[in-house]
Amino acid sequence: MLEVRDLVAGYGLTRVLEGVSLQVGAGEIVAVLGSNGAGKTTLNMAVSGLVRPRAGEVRFEGANITGRSPAEIMGLGLIQVPEGRKIFPNLTVRENLELGSYRRAKANRARNLERVFLTFPRLKERVAQAAGTLSGGEQQMLAIGRGMMAEPKLLILDEPSLGLSPLLVEEMFGLIRRLHSEGLAIMLVEQNVAQSLDIADRAYVLENGGFALSGPAAQVREDPELKRAYLGL
Ligand code: ATP
Repeated sequence: MLEVRDLVAGYGLTRVLEGVSLQVGAGEIVAVLGSNGAGKTTLNMAVSGLVRPRAGEVRFEGANITGRSPAEIMGLGLIQVPEGRKIFPNLTVRENLELGSYRRAKANRARNLERVFLTFPRLKERVAQAAGTLSGGEQQMLAIGRGMMAEPKLLILDEPSLGLSPLLVEEMFGLIRRLHSEGLAIMLVEQNVAQSLDIADRAYVLENGGFALSGPAAQVREDPELKRAYLGL
């Protein structure tokens, strides 16, 4: 579904990604792991068209989307839920959700809104509340709900567990598993290595601008170097 080949990206004189390649197949959860500043968000933004790649190629469902605009890319069904949620704090929950279908799946807005409320009953209870007054966990649900409004084919989640209490982190991973069981392909960009490996089919570990390790999640979890550096074992 998604194929990234030899991608180079950065900012000004800084090169962050030094030629990374990865794939996400239909129906897969693929985890992209790495510590702070490893370049996970940069990879996400280069795939979504928010950072222009300096070299390499991004293909989505067979089409070359390298260098296309974010609006065009999201129109194809490659939807990202950004790090830090980026909701509109002064708009209500409903307005934030409706904006998710501004460019895609507008005709199905009412139906998709009901689907989001079914997944997140808490959002339904707070539909008229200003989004900025939601709790951190509720804001993350809203950001994911907004992504769902666009009927994603591939959903990129950038650090969905960031800033959540351990209980809410559990809930968030449970939700990701549920979305996956409904057939959605997910690229999960995370620092939370242990829990991401539990739900992912495959994983890539980003270090120093490249993938230091990749493979089936069960295999990556057993890597001695990963255990030492990321799991403290
Ligand atoms: P985190 O988990 O902390 O969010 P990350 O893996 O997502 O980290 P990136 O946000 O991709 O990391 O950042 C990678 C590197 O690029 C960092 O050193 C960061 O300082 C740098 N960087 C990010 N955005 C910019 C920018 N707009 N201009 C210059 N440098 C940037």
